Amino acid sequence: MPARTRVSPANLVRPEIRALSAYPVPVSEGMIKLDAMENPYGWPAELVERWLETLRCVPLNRYPDPGAVALKARLRETMAIPAQAGLILGNGSDELIQIIALALAKPGAVVLAPEPGFVMYRMIAVYAGMEYVGVPLRAADFSLDTEAMLAAIERHRPAVVFLAYPNNPTGNLFAAGDVRRLIAATPGIVVLDEAYFTFADRSFLPALEEYPNVLVMRTVSKMGLAGLRLGFLVGAPEWLDELEKLRLPYNISVMSQVSAGFALENKAVLDQQARYIRRQRGELFAQLEALPGITAFPSDANFILFRTPEGQALRVFEALKAARILIKYLGGGGGLLRECLRVTVGTPAENQAFISALQRIL
Ligand code: PMP
Repeated sequence: MPARTRVSPANLVRPEIRALSAYPVPVSEGMIKLDAMENPYGWPAELVERWLETLRCVPLNRYPDPGAVALKARLRETMAIPAQAGLILGNGSDELIQIIALALAKPGAVVLAPEPGFVMYRMIAVYAGMEYVGVPLRAADFSLDTEAMLAAIERHRPAVVFLAYPNNPTGNLFAAGDVRRLIAATPGIVVLDEAYFTFADRSFLPALEEYPNVLVMRTVSKMGLAGLRLGFLVGAPEWLDELEKLRLPYNISVMSQVSAGFALENKAVLDQQARYIRRQRGELFAQLEALPGITAFPSDANFILFRTPEGQALRVFEALKAARILIKYLGGGGGLLRECLRVTVGTPAENQAFISALQRIL
């Protein structure tokens, strides 16, 4: 009998997947955690009690409602989703990005996004076997280089353009006029990723009627519910009916459906936390800017991008980590994010600990 060649990932796994690294999530046990754009606040004890009460009768032995009818109705009401628009839910907006990519992944189909941007657009394009094209933002202020974007759209004819509004990791909100020019020029769909909507209060949701090729994506993660994993996509039913076919059955657990429904009923608490975080963002920005050698970039989200003096960013990141403060180092690839770090707005005490440590390290 011929010797059987050993079955190995090198032979079977697609080369582009072999070349990827898994999404890195650093250990954060016991640290001041300012790396992942989480809301640092919990709920008042009375609210926690009422939430636990709603969980008492959740039937864990049954599959969840596959259509999440009650939760969708709650979302429509609390997020002012236009009645004629379609709505689908994802296990985080990450899953929605994946559904969109899977639906559009014809041979040679292109995903296009400005860079620096949210890394999952590129990662998921690779998962789905699509081509990815990144177009640099303007170096001075991370605004859209509209002419470069229009030229790239013309050249690559993307099936989908992702625009994070506000953008991660830069924190700024692109000019609405620039976004509209890109929407008009795109031969495919444009996904406006409004993950940080709570901190910007600007949205393309009201513009959906004007633009049948636009989908608006949101998540409850940054609102204070990152643990639930719930994202939603709004747009023309014509598009969402196709995407719905790729949604895995029961993708939103019963715990998430019930808990998100409860949280949205009490959305005033989350909104108040968001307003407070916005105020703290202003203070943190002013303190960062006042540090010698630091350039902080204005933010409409719940985090701030900043640049250290030449050759310092990695050292600052490591020294903060040694002081049990975790932020995000973004300078590894050089380019527009050279010497850049990103800090999430935490509680006033956390922000103060971060600023004091940073001051010491610098
Ligand atoms: N879009 C952007 C712009 C983000 O920054 C993030 C989270 N970092 C997401 C989407 C994913 O959010 P979710 O937790 O809903 O998967």
